[in-house]
Amino acid sequence: MTFPVHRPRRLRRSEALRGFVRETRLTTAGLVYPLFACPGSKVRVPVSSMPGVFQLSADQIVEECREVAGLGIPAVILFGLPEHKDETGSEAADANGAVQRSVEAIRKAKIELLVITDVCLCEYTSHGHCGVIKDGEVLNDPSSELLAAAALSHARAGADIVAPSDMMDGRVGAIRRKLDENHFEDIAILSYAAKYCSAFYGPFREAAQSAPQFGDRRSYQMDPANAREALREVELDLEEGADMIMVKPALPYLDIIQRVRERFDVPVAAYNVSGEYSMVKAAAQNGWIDEKRIVLELITSIQRAGASIILTYHAKDLARWLKSS
Ligand SMILES: [Zn+2]
Repeated sequence: MTFPVHRPRRLRRSEALRGFVRETRLTTAGLVYPLFACPGSKVRVPVSSMPGVFQLSADQIVEECREVAGLGIPAVILFGLPEHKDETGSEAADANGAVQRSVEAIRKAKIELLVITDVCLCEYTSHGHCGVIKDGEVLNDPSSELLAAAALSHARAGADIVAPSDMMDGRVGAIRRKLDENHFEDIAILSYAAKYCSAFYGPFREAAQSAPQFGDRRSYQMDPANAREALREVELDLEEGADMIMVKPALPYLDIIQRVRERFDVPVAAYNVSGEYSMVKAAAQNGWIDEKRIVLELITSIQRAGASIILTYHAKDLARWLKSS
């Protein structure tokens, strides 16, 4: 027996009914707000391709974190801009680097936030690749060691979670060993396990000044055409000791989020990246879309696909909208 006995519209008649049977409920509980830490003090430089996003010095990061915590967002992730770039990205592990100083400042201010640090070399290397280079190749194992040193410096500064985003093989294991050897066995690793070689990172590279100076990242980031390989990447990172894993970007890879969610019983994060954000902002500024409705729908789709943790530049707006609705 189907129609007229079954009428799915019965449960859509009012907002009370729709809310009652809603499968995906957005809250601020899994949101992570990305921040760009730069050297200096009282620095607040707008990123032109990402309206509402700034490069911030440590004191400004603290102000931003107060606002973020006040909105009920539980976590931030910090990316760093160095004073100087060099071949090996040595400032990535510098105790006085912008990320390390920002983490210390957040801790000193006693703001109740989970502090996640992005661990990579591309913001710090003169060539803009995520590892060290020899004869035009990105070397894997030496890069992992440098990444582990960077992660350790973040843990020493007071980070709760380190998040390697470079896509070198074996770097999760290298970071876990380095942290454990230095008695940071309680610091968790959120691995960018399935990070695709994506054109959606374009605006971020302005924000983090991390565009590669030659070639591209296809030899280490994943081919957008591959889904099964993402499961293999996640499996390996979990074996190496990742506590949580991430799929990046989010919207063009909802199928990957869903597959990973179904296969693995660990927290799954997704990164709603700069290009996804900037497209929405540009269309909204032109009056072509309803920004609030678009963002609520996009973030719902990421959560519905299976991500319980969502990194997004929309986090503050989202938190305000969820509060007022
Ligand atoms: Zn990188």
